[in-house]
Amino acid sequence: MFESLSERLDSAFKLLKGEGRISEINVASTVKEIRRALVDADVNYKIAKDFTDRVKDKAQGEKVLTAISPGQLMVKIVKDELAELMGGEAAELELKANPTIILIAGLQGSGKTTFSGKLANFLKTKKGKKPLLVAADIYRPAAIDQLKVLGGQIEVPVYSEPENKNAVQIAENAIKEAKQNGNNVIIIDTAGRLAVDEAMMTEVANIRKAVQPQEILFVVDSMTGQDAVNTAKAFNDRLDFSGVVLTKLDGDTRGGAALTIKYTVEKPIKFVSMGEKLDTLDVFYPERMAQRILG
Ligand code: GDP
Repeated sequence: MFESLSERLDSAFKLLKGEGRISEINVASTVKEIRRALVDADVNYKIAKDFTDRVKDKAQGEKVLTAISPGQLMVKIVKDELAELMGGEAAELELKANPTIILIAGLQGSGKTTFSGKLANFLKTKKGKKPLLVAADIYRPAAIDQLKVLGGQIEVPVYSEPENKNAVQIAENAIKEAKQNGNNVIIIDTAGRLAVDEAMMTEVANIRKAVQPQEILFVVDSMTGQDAVNTAKAFNDRLDFSGVVLTKLDGDTRGGAALTIKYTVEKPIKFVSMGEKLDTLDVFYPERMAQRILG
């Protein structure tokens, strides 16, 4: 992931690491190259421009021109700005309520069901929780089976009602079941469509109203770049979700979604998913990601 962006930024900094004196022209060319690299990583032009304007201001304020190692100072400025762009501090899940209800939403194929399994595994093994997975996709019977297979692998129960076509009822019944069985986290995997549509939004909104979740996590495929950001906007307008999950970061993603979702919808990225195995889920730390991008 981010290989191309990392390489491009690296070569931008080389403009400040060469022999001889650094000039304002060197700094300007570096900043311009950073902007191009961001746009090529599928960052919206205005966001890339605002970003490099901030970098330019800081470079002036911190006197990059006369610094002993201008290249290193510039890397630090860009790293801090990247971390800030991606959200600054890491955002933890809200897990105090008993039971805690977590609603999972997103387009079909984004990785919702896989993430639901990974999250259940994470909460069980890392947080000592007793989760219940709920299959609330009433359109694809295969989704129920998929969740059951995942639940079986991590030994987490899966609630489903294959004959029931009312997702709100399924979610409500699942909560009753969880309370009876002492499950303290309930993860509800909802149906997804190929594109944002009114029926899907209404259904998720209805489940939300009925179960009052503590967390609504929006799952999105990081490979879809600016489309991911636009989809996030559409979901956030309707659902006012609490956090983003970026999937498929192990793939050939250019980075645009990771870099700009937080800035655009003002909601934190809470997890990144990096593979099909159930233990490839990480809490998202903006600073570590910035460090990784800058190598
Ligand atoms: P859903 O339709 O949103 O529930 O999506 P699925 O969970 O069924 O995932 C769609 C496809 O993406 C499946 O083939 C998953 O194995 C795959 N997938 C999910 N998350 C990741 C990930 O982080 N990395 C990779 N490489 N594949 C993933």
